Amino acid sequence: MKLCILGSTGSIGTQALESAENLGIKIGALAAGSRVKLLEEQCRRFKPDRAYIGEKHYGELKTALADTAIKVVTGEDTLNSFGAETDCDTVLNALTGIRGLRPTVACLKADKTLALANKETLVAGGSVVMPLAKKGILPVDSEHSAIFQCLQGQPRPKSLILTASGGPFFGKSKEFLETVTPADALKHPNWSMGNKVTIDSATMMNKGLELIEAMHLFGVSEDKIKVIIHRESIIHSMVVYDDNAVIAQLGVPDMRLCIQYALTYPNRAPSLAKELDFDTLGGLSFYPPDGEAFPLLPLARFAARQGGTTPAAMNGANEAAVGLFLKGKLSFTGISDTVIKATVEHKAIQNPTIEQIEEADKEAREKVLAAI
Ligand code: MG
Repeated sequence: MKLCILGSTGSIGTQALESAENLGIKIGALAAGSRVKLLEEQCRRFKPDRAYIGEKHYGELKTALADTAIKVVTGEDTLNSFGAETDCDTVLNALTGIRGLRPTVACLKADKTLALANKETLVAGGSVVMPLAKKGILPVDSEHSAIFQCLQGQPRPKSLILTASGGPFFGKSKEFLETVTPADALKHPNWSMGNKVTIDSATMMNKGLELIEAMHLFGVSEDKIKVIIHRESIIHSMVVYDDNAVIAQLGVPDMRLCIQYALTYPNRAPSLAKELDFDTLGGLSFYPPDGEAFPLLPLARFAARQGGTTPAAMNGANEAAVGLFLKGKLSFTGISDTVIKATVEHKAIQNPTIEQIEEADKEAREKVLAAI
């Protein structure tokens, strides 16, 4: 295998490189947006043929790698086709947000094996992406990796159960949530992740996005996917079969196991994740989600039922709102207020083109920016 990683300096990207090194997988291409120093280090260590960096930092990386044979490239169009045009057979898309959509489409058209950590791609563009995924998509998100593992060798499931940690504000009231800061929201109890997904976990939007992601990946309707809060993040998700047998995948919360399974599938190999220690595990707890304090999960169900461009609008609004929150320009509850408004007001276009999806995304972002 020769691997290309889009988003190599992010949380998933860096953990993927650790896993690839552990597995002895050759790295063919790396792409990052702005972390030049880290990308340079990665390039020196993993010796890819090509490296992509965001336009602002192109000169810096090109100079830094001048003594190597690595070809440095830049430009938004270049990023879109970067994975598709390498000689790598497998591409891990670990970009954040809707900008992962065009690279995903290009990789699938080029018949690459796609490991997908970029959930926004499927939320916004699932109807465009899935028909292109003739070989299927290898899920990297822990919940979807868990479901994928539980589905091996089994008939079609009756329903899916997505587990959610509940994030740092589990059990808190709407009044409390009005006062939380970005620093509070960035303290996730179990998982080490990037800023965007950590804030999405705190608002429960992450589980809403994952619900729509699961619909596309596994061909299951919204009403057949249950969400349950599971505080310990030990059960990563479950599948229910016709006979009511429930199959769960358990493990310590370590993304490297999920990333690795996408890379070794259908095989397994020793990983960097520790084995679960049942002697010290103690109890596992489960609670229904609180849709009143965390209204973005019910909103995702609404968007899923509306279909068409509505999930793209919701996702775009959320990306914009999370960006504003992290900059201190929007309160925590302001995220859900603005995202709900932009989603409910959106007029869905069914069976959209990729351009219509991007337009819905853009319009929703503008609506959020205009609201503050
Ligand atoms: Mg997840």
